Amino acid sequence: MTLDNLAETFSRVFKRAPEIEVRAPGRVNLIGEHTDYNDGFVLPTDIDRAIWITAAGRTDTLVRAHSLDFGQTTTFDTKRIEKDDNAVWSNYIRGVIREFQKRGDQVKGMDLAVSGNVPKGSGLSSSAALEVATAETCRVISGIQIDPVSMALLCQAAERQFVGVQCGIMDQFVSTLGRENAALFLDCRDLSFELVPLEMQARIVICDSRKQRSLQTSEYNKRRAECEGAVRALSPVLGDAKALRDVTPQQLDENKQLMPELWYRRARHVVTENGRVLSAVGFLKSGDIPQFGRLMYESHASLRDDYEVSCAELDILVELASQQQGTIGARMTGAGFGGCTVNLVASEAVADFQATVAEKYQARTGLKPLVYVCSPSNGVMHRKL
Ligand code: ADP
Ligand code: MG
Repeated sequence: MTLDNLAETFSRVFKRAPEIEVRAPGRVNLIGEHTDYNDGFVLPTDIDRAIWITAAGRTDTLVRAHSLDFGQTTTFDTKRIEKDDNAVWSNYIRGVIREFQKRGDQVKGMDLAVSGNVPKGSGLSSSAALEVATAETCRVISGIQIDPVSMALLCQAAERQFVGVQCGIMDQFVSTLGRENAALFLDCRDLSFELVPLEMQARIVICDSRKQRSLQTSEYNKRRAECEGAVRALSPVLGDAKALRDVTPQQLDENKQLMPELWYRRARHVVTENGRVLSAVGFLKSGDIPQFGRLMYESHASLRDDYEVSCAELDILVELASQQQGTIGARMTGAGFGGCTVNLVASEAVADFQATVAEKYQARTGLKPLVYVCSPSNGVMHRKL
């Protein structure tokens, strides 16, 4: 897909010229897994894979949306926005417009064409990229005043309330506020954040295990309940702790007898992972990339052993990565039970990494992995045509 294609398709489908183009990226979380719903810290970065929209305003209240990748056009009236199960991709667009309307914003009718190269359903958050691209398109075309943090929250609300996926805020936040060559250190409790320069002679390599993520939703809900259980169990001694974010590793260890061993291990992952994010930010700032990589391996071990959200395939990918010359760090990323690993690999070692890890992984699992070599990229941007 090229942007020329998208503009051309727009003109062919809608018989007019587009007025703007918008780009919103997918993302990968470098460290800080299963910390978001515990009010903790995450460190994602935008990747150079994105959703693009070209669009033009209309004088009526209709939205005509064309997906290049699904080869489908759908039309709806902004006065009556309903879900469309025959064009599921358009529900992200519909949901975002609905959320603007809930704020009292007038969203004009528009024609838009959308395409992207964020792999769908692999955990690199193509859905957030689509929401953020849509929100930026609405903002520019309808002249809506909204700050970036509110826009990210609006996109999250669209996914939770209209599409029906109970997602956290990280994906929409980094797709909206990320900057080129930086990771975004986010406090999921109060949404304060800091852009941390990612200046290194290394590439971000993402390996998609291609393992179907079957247990994900039920296990995810169990982990959330176990974390809440641990906080409740600690309340007699740590009455002020509202979430595991408020608990130190030492406090947890001193009070482990207050809870079942399983809850203790779940909580230990979260409190140590929060600590690792803070340390990782420090190492990025001081340029100590090898130490950053070590924390990625530690994060993986904690997710595998204490939180138990990894799987054989992800463990094999991390093990194979660790055996490669030039690998700085590797870990599973995303909710787990399949999905992707994220690896930091010295630039000159990337080609060998890509070939060798893929070959050995396939030999051991029978699955053909997808390997994406990424660069940290900018958050959402638009350009008038
Ligand atoms: P993830 O966010 O991990 O990629 P999701 O299941 O949350 O996976 O979102 C994927 C959905 O987002 C797709 O099924 C589709 O509806 C929508 N989507 C993603 N990319 C595109 C695209 N390029 N064009 C249209 N819709 C897309
Ligand atoms: Mg998603």
